[in-house]
Amino acid sequence: MRVVSTAVVFCSIAVAQTAGIDLGAIDRGISPCNDFYQSACGLWMKNNPIPGDQARWGRFDELALRNRETLKAILEGAGVEKPGRTANQKLIGDQYATCMDEPGIEKKGLTGLQPTLDRIAKGSGKTWLAEEVARLHATGVSVLFRLGPTQDSKDSKKTIANLGQAGLTLPDRDYYLKTDAKSEELKVKYLAHVQRIFALLGHDADRAAAEAKAVMAFETGLAKVAADRVTLRDPQKRYNTVTLAQLGQTASGFGWDTYLKGVKVGETSFNTASPAYLNGMSALLTATPEADVKNYLTWRAVKDAATLLPKAFVAEDFAFSETTLRGVKEQAPRWRQCVVMVDRQLGEALGKEYVERTFGEEGKQRTLKMVGEIEASMEKDVQSLEWMSDTTKKQALEKLHKMANKIGYPEKWRDYSSVKIVRGDLVGNDQRVSAFAFQRQLGKIGHPPDNSEWGMTPPTVNAYYNAAANDINFPAGILQPPFYFKGGDDAANYGAIGAVVGHELTHGFDDSGRQYDGDGNLREWWTEEDAKQFKERADCIVQEYAAFKVTADTNQNGKLTLGENGADNGGVRLAFMALMDAIAKLDAAGGKSMPAVADFTPQQRFFLAYGQVWCQNISEEAARLQALTNPHSLGRYRVNGVVQNMPEFQKAFGCQAGQPMVSEKGCRIW
Ligand SMILES: [Zn+2]
Repeated sequence: MRVVSTAVVFCSIAVAQTAGIDLGAIDRGISPCNDFYQSACGLWMKNNPIPGDQARWGRFDELALRNRETLKAILEGAGVEKPGRTANQKLIGDQYATCMDEPGIEKKGLTGLQPTLDRIAKGSGKTWLAEEVARLHATGVSVLFRLGPTQDSKDSKKTIANLGQAGLTLPDRDYYLKTDAKSEELKVKYLAHVQRIFALLGHDADRAAAEAKAVMAFETGLAKVAADRVTLRDPQKRYNTVTLAQLGQTASGFGWDTYLKGVKVGETSFNTASPAYLNGMSALLTATPEADVKNYLTWRAVKDAATLLPKAFVAEDFAFSETTLRGVKEQAPRWRQCVVMVDRQLGEALGKEYVERTFGEEGKQRTLKMVGEIEASMEKDVQSLEWMSDTTKKQALEKLHKMANKIGYPEKWRDYSSVKIVRGDLVGNDQRVSAFAFQRQLGKIGHPPDNSEWGMTPPTVNAYYNAAANDINFPAGILQPPFYFKGGDDAANYGAIGAVVGHELTHGFDDSGRQYDGDGNLREWWTEEDAKQFKERADCIVQEYAAFKVTADTNQNGKLTLGENGADNGGVRLAFMALMDAIAKLDAAGGKSMPAVADFTPQQRFFLAYGQVWCQNISEEAARLQALTNPHSLGRYRVNGVVQNMPEFQKAFGCQAGQPMVSEKGCRIW
């Protein structure tokens, strides 16, 4: 358990004059110019090994755990059946108590899931399959593809229907398709895992082995026709229309009409990132014996519910999904699994309670001020760019001025009053919550988008930019140490939360975001020459990060991580400019600059605060998984990749040409 050490870290920060950077994390034996990450985080990494129940442990994760402890207290209180609970408290409390009742779950066995398994076992025929897929989707089981709403990229005032690829169990198509030793080893382990789950359903060894083989073959077939992640990042490639009539011709192996009737969607045209996937999936259905397709559906239904089932299922799911894939050694305490579940299912009901207890007006105002300052930096930055024409600059500034921001929590909370939570029925509750979420999503199609809605729950330690809405979003969960120190060192606040604000803002102008205009429409607003200049600069970043090693046989994927790396580079620069402005204002007001703290200048503290946000230890398995699937680079490269591009950093620490933290190329877009 990390509870004690987490509390100590935050207490010591709260009382120290240096509230901001963690002096105890710094390894003074390492030169910042040789390896800044190791210098800023060396002792932290040494003193904070990965707990057995985590795949990664960083200062970021400490904060996430602290938020979960707050949520635990809320849910424990709400779970006690007593008069006076609000409808909201009853909802989240009953679901949490149901999740915590492990003896009750054992006793219930497979009762909750059995009707689904029976339906699949008995069903037959193309019509049945389409109806069954509709039923599975409506209860949150991901098979074959995904139907949902999306903002029309070329008319952001419209919400249209979208068909996406889905239904793979392994984290990425590459896990099925790659043939290196590690990938082959994982495939063998996956096959054994599927077989063991079928055995837990009571199937004898031969049958379970055959079923597992069929699942593997079918999912490999889906992986072969799936688009890769780099392609899916490209907004132009993601924008394709298919009509129902076309699907009837090119993807006739699936009963689209029947399916749409089943989910009560009357649309006749859809956006899809990958028409080839829908066609390939359909061909695969035609070519696969029905019994094998049914094995796949059964597998997906059980896998989806595994964490809600008796211990034997939970343990088997953990052994593969957490230990094999992510390197986690032991299961997290039950309460944490249950907190995560309620946050995922009923996030705004729980988030409302969280915000009432933790988030003050002060935090909101302070963040707003920071956002304003960083937007001003971006304006200055754009105007100063030598490579960009005035025409494109004008458009960029227009987009910047139209950017909206949302801070803390939604103004209007989601209404869960139609969701029925039954104490003691974990699987049933999950199906009803999933049905509510699915209907709510489908209900958006055909209506103007509601941009006041949030894509993250309030306790989340994260932030995001939404290109279709052109807004930046900062949940309450991130507006705390080590990102934001209330009443703490300004230099550190600019380096931490300031860099996060700058990061999200820069997403509006990264390789993907730049293709959208200020109204959220995919439209070319760049001159040809400026677009060319942008791409050259972006390529520099692609090459830089592609050289970073993650494991012995895996590097960062420079193209997959380009958007995030670009946002990190731009974000830190913008936050640094804002810090310089703040210092200049202080100097002008009283002739007194920000003081040095613990012999670090404000500039040095800025970079240390940025670096220390990313202090982390990560298992080899999780690092590999992140490199293959996640658009974010590892913490080490989010720090060193940025500072080696910044003369401001090199000046702050007196680094000389030729040292590792002084990049010869000095990649810079914004
Ligand atoms: Zn990002």
